Amino acid sequence: MAEKKYPQCARCLSRICEKRGDKTAEGLPSVKQYPDFCPMGLMPEVFDKAAGEYHKPAIKEFARLASVQEFQCFERLPDGIRAKLPRIEELIQFARKCGYKRLGIAHCGGLIKEAGMLTDILENNGFEVISVQCKAGCVPKEAIGIRPEEKIAGPDRWESMCNPIAQAMIMNHFQVDLAVMLGLCIGHDTLFIKYCDVPLTVLAVKDRLLAHNPLAALYLSDSYYRRLKNGIQGSETE
Ligand code: SF4
Repeated sequence: MAEKKYPQCARCLSRICEKRGDKTAEGLPSVKQYPDFCPMGLMPEVFDKAAGEYHKPAIKEFARLASVQEFQCFERLPDGIRAKLPRIEELIQFARKCGYKRLGIAHCGGLIKEAGMLTDILENNGFEVISVQCKAGCVPKEAIGIRPEEKIAGPDRWESMCNPIAQAMIMNHFQVDLAVMLGLCIGHDTLFIKYCDVPLTVLAVKDRLLAHNPLAALYLSDSYYRRLKNGIQGSETE
């Protein structure tokens, strides 16, 4: 097999970087133990550079809090380690750890009910919450070159475009301590991330068919979604 010259952690069988179960005093694995596609062997300078970032006090503290949060999502019981927190609870705990007061929800119009439920939960937990849905601005899709036949509701109907740039700008304007993405579409989420200048996390991504759980298709890709493995056809129309 040709030597891999780029990282392929997803194909790794050794995962020696995890050193699961080793004592903390034991040393790092030898470079000879890395698979040939291991980023630790291919680009050690990146890990040195990243380590330098973690030495910055604010970054180090943020990373520490994130790691503490990760720890608190598990409990060690006599019969083993179990996960114990849903992501919403993690969000609340982590935001409190960071001292955040004002949270901003950037949500899809299709998830306005969920955005309201999330707002109630976050407010009941002491946060100030602003929310902006994707259609804010009421800009017609024609403004970005969408043709009549490409409108979901029909060629003669008004259709507002998703406006993730405005959503991000509003988050920036109000200087929310943490923006929370809730169900933005693929591509719209990318633009939101590009324009968002405040700390940002994701509560849920959009999957219209699978109750916003895209991994369900992965778990069924040996059966009902086998077509994904075979190479799906006809998705790149323009
Ligand atoms: S970092 Fe190296 S050892 Fe760890 S999963 Fe990736 S390829 Fe495997």
